[in-house]
Amino acid sequence: MRHLALLGSTGSIGTSTLDVVRAHPDRLSVVALAGGRNRDLLRAQCDVFRPRCVSVGSKEDAEWLRSALAYRPEVHWGDDGLLACALHADADTVVAAIVGSAGLASTEAALRAGRRVCVANKESLVVGGALMHEAALAGGGELLPVDSEHAALHQLLDGREPATIREVRITASGGPFRDWPLARIQAATIEEALNHPTWKMGPKITIDSATLMNKGLEVIEASVLFGLTPDQVAVTVHPQSQVHAMVGFHDGSYQLQVCANDMKLPIQYCLLYPDKQPGPVAPYPWEEARAWTFEAPDLERFPCLGLAFAALREGGTAPALLNAANEVAVAAFLQGQLRFWDIQACNRDLLDRIPAGPIESLPQVLDADRAARRHAEGWVRARVRSFGCP
Ligand code: NAD
Ligand code: MG
Repeated sequence: MRHLALLGSTGSIGTSTLDVVRAHPDRLSVVALAGGRNRDLLRAQCDVFRPRCVSVGSKEDAEWLRSALAYRPEVHWGDDGLLACALHADADTVVAAIVGSAGLASTEAALRAGRRVCVANKESLVVGGALMHEAALAGGGELLPVDSEHAALHQLLDGREPATIREVRITASGGPFRDWPLARIQAATIEEALNHPTWKMGPKITIDSATLMNKGLEVIEASVLFGLTPDQVAVTVHPQSQVHAMVGFHDGSYQLQVCANDMKLPIQYCLLYPDKQPGPVAPYPWEEARAWTFEAPDLERFPCLGLAFAALREGGTAPALLNAANEVAVAAFLQGQLRFWDIQACNRDLLDRIPAGPIESLPQVLDADRAARRHAEGWVRARVRSFGCP
C-alpha cells in the first residue's frame, strides 16, 4: 500500500492522480492533499478521500475549509502548508503537481526526507538541477518522472548500461501553431494559444506548449534526470502524441515508447513502479488504422526551444534564470499585458543580460530565481509603458 501526499490536487495532474487512486483502492490511499485557490474543489476532494492533512493557498481559505469540512483534519496554508503535506509522517509517496518553481522547496524536502517523489512539476527539476539528486541521495528518496516523455524514457532506460546510449529523443506535438507562418504566430491571441490540439492541461504548460518552451524545459529535465549532455538530448515533432520518447543506440537503432496520450498512464507508472497493473486507461487500440508523422522542430518560429538548449549548454543557474523569466512572461501574457511573441523576447533578454552562476545550494538557486523574476517583471513593465497592452 502506498500512502500519498498530493501537492496540486485541484489541477490537471492532481485530478488525474485521484482518478488513478480510485482505480487502485487496494494499493493507493490519500494521506494529504494540497491545493492553491480552488477551495470548493479541494473541499469536495476532502469529502471523498478524507485526507488527514490538507493545505490551501491562503489563511482565509484555511479557516473556511476548517468550518466547511464535516471531519477534523489538520488544515494548513501557504508554503508551510505544502511542506506539512509533503513531510507528513504517514505519507511515503509525494506527487509533486503544483506549477512553477513554487514547487521546488517541497520537492527537495520530500526527497531529503526519503520519500518516493513522483515529479510532474518539471520546473523544480529545471531550476534545482543536480541538487534534486543530491537531496535524494542524502535522504534516501526516490525520484520518478511523471512527465509523459520522461516516464517513457525511464521505462526505456531502466536497466540499460549508459555507455550503450547515443542519444534520447523526446517528442513534441508541435502545439497549436505547428504549421502556422511566423507572422501569424507572432500575433497569436490568448484563446489561440490555449487551444492545444492533443493534450488538456493547466494554462501555464499549455502556453509553454504553444511556444515550445515546454519542450525546452523538458530537454533540460531529461538532462537532469538521466545525466545526459546537451548533445545527447534531441526533439522530434510528432503531432499525434502517441510515441512519447525514443532511445538511440550506438549502432544506429532506436527503441520507442508508445501509449495513449493520457497522463493517467505515466502517473500510474510512477505510483506503482515497478509493478504494471491494469488501470483506468484502455490498452493501445492497434486494431484501428492510423498514421504517425515525424518532423524536425523549426527554431525560427519557435525560438524558446533554442533558448532552452542555450541555457542547458551554459549550465549553472542559467536554466533557473530562463525558467523564472518564462514564468513571469507567460503570466503577463495570460493577463493580457504581453503579446505572444514578447514571451520569447523577454526570455532572450534575460539570458543575454543576467550572467549565470554556479549551483551549490538551494538558497543560491532561489536567489537566482528571485533576481530573474525582478528583471523579467521590469522588462514587462517597460514593454507595457512603451507599447501599452496588446
Ligand atoms: P494546473 O494549473 O492545472 O494545476 C496546478 C495545481 O497546483 C493546482 O492544484 C493549483 O491550485 C496548485 N498550485 C499552483 N501554485 C501553487 C502554490 N504556490 N501553492 C500551492 N498550490 C499551488 O497545472 P497542471 O497542468 O496540473 O501542471 C502541474 C505541473 O505538472 C506543471 O509543472 C506542469 O508543467 C506539469 N505537467 C503537466 C502535465 C499535464 O498534462 N497537465 C503534463 C506534464 C507535466
Ligand atoms: Mg511532457
